[in-house]
Amino acid sequence: MADYKLNNDAELLRLIRSDEPQEAEALFAAAREVRNEQYGNEVYFRGLIEFTNYCKNDCYYCGIRRSNAKVKRYRLSLEQVLNSCRMGDVLGFRTFVLQGGEDPWFTDERVVEMVAAIRQAYPDHAITLSIGERSRASYEAFFRAGANRYLLRHETANDEHYRKMHPPAMSLAERKQCLYDLKDIGFQVGAGFMVGTPFQTPENLLEDLRFLEDLKPHMVGIGPFIPQADTPFGAYPGGSLELSLKMVALTRLLLPKALIPATTATGTINPQGREKALMAGANVVMPNLSPKDVRKLYALYDNKICTGDEAAECRLCMEGRIRNFGFVPNMARGDYVGWTARVGTGA
Ligand code: SAH
Repeated sequence: MADYKLNNDAELLRLIRSDEPQEAEALFAAAREVRNEQYGNEVYFRGLIEFTNYCKNDCYYCGIRRSNAKVKRYRLSLEQVLNSCRMGDVLGFRTFVLQGGEDPWFTDERVVEMVAAIRQAYPDHAITLSIGERSRASYEAFFRAGANRYLLRHETANDEHYRKMHPPAMSLAERKQCLYDLKDIGFQVGAGFMVGTPFQTPENLLEDLRFLEDLKPHMVGIGPFIPQADTPFGAYPGGSLELSLKMVALTRLLLPKALIPATTATGTINPQGREKALMAGANVVMPNLSPKDVRKLYALYDNKICTGDEAAECRLCMEGRIRNFGFVPNMARGDYVGWTARVGTGA
């Protein structure tokens, strides 16, 4: 296996900038080897429930931003969420990921009610939240109610770049603080970033990797930026598959134990994007469990895949895809290797 000097910034920048296919292939092979050492060739399944597309934020890249008046907004009822969980459970899922915009209707109380109801019905399942920035006290309440994991991509670890992607009311410092708080509380935490966002430089991507090394998240979501026509970034080019895969591979080398999803965005820009991400060191897939009639409305970017399928179809389709590439589905909770729950909590 090639011996990469991962603490050398110049070496990482050279790999990020390189457009040599052979260099990329060697990097993917090295990342696969590290993934195999930690997790073998198994791929963990998470059931994704997109439960609200209301959002009070106005991120320049995101299709469900507040200012996008073209979005038909929806919010699932508690009953609909529980139905999606029930379907997921029947299909074998042991992790539910509840993702949404930053929807003020979902007060802490309502989120707690939702988490507690899922926790009561499924004592042994992992409950992952992905609902943006909240106070430490809110995160603590969610944890006490039984949530185990939290996904909050940092989006970019460079302050100047962050400001070019978000309105002035948002700050990278706050987002990073949320991540450190979540970790401190005892969540398994997921950070991550988009590849190829407008104004992103190779140096920014290097900073993303160095930030990940500092935070040491348990999960890292990486996918290409894909323009959504009704956003301020709608006319910018999208991120490339090759660079997205290289960032997955480099993340695997730097954080060998990380749970890294083959993201929907990666599958959207290439028909075999998710399989290629697994071949570049990823080890998680997140089939969609949302009710079919709301799928199309959770349009973070254009041409999103899997918006027409039933949950069962998504589950089967993913299984077939990963088996074709020699991977084995693992439907267990799939905690971070070596994870031990905090005593006295539901985690
Ligand atoms: N509101 C929640 C999560 C919802 S969005 C939060 O703030 O964490 C989930 C992720 O989708 C975002 O973190 C972002 O990285 C990604 N995303 C948003 N718009 C995108 C786009 N146009 N192309 C690719 N990914 C996008």
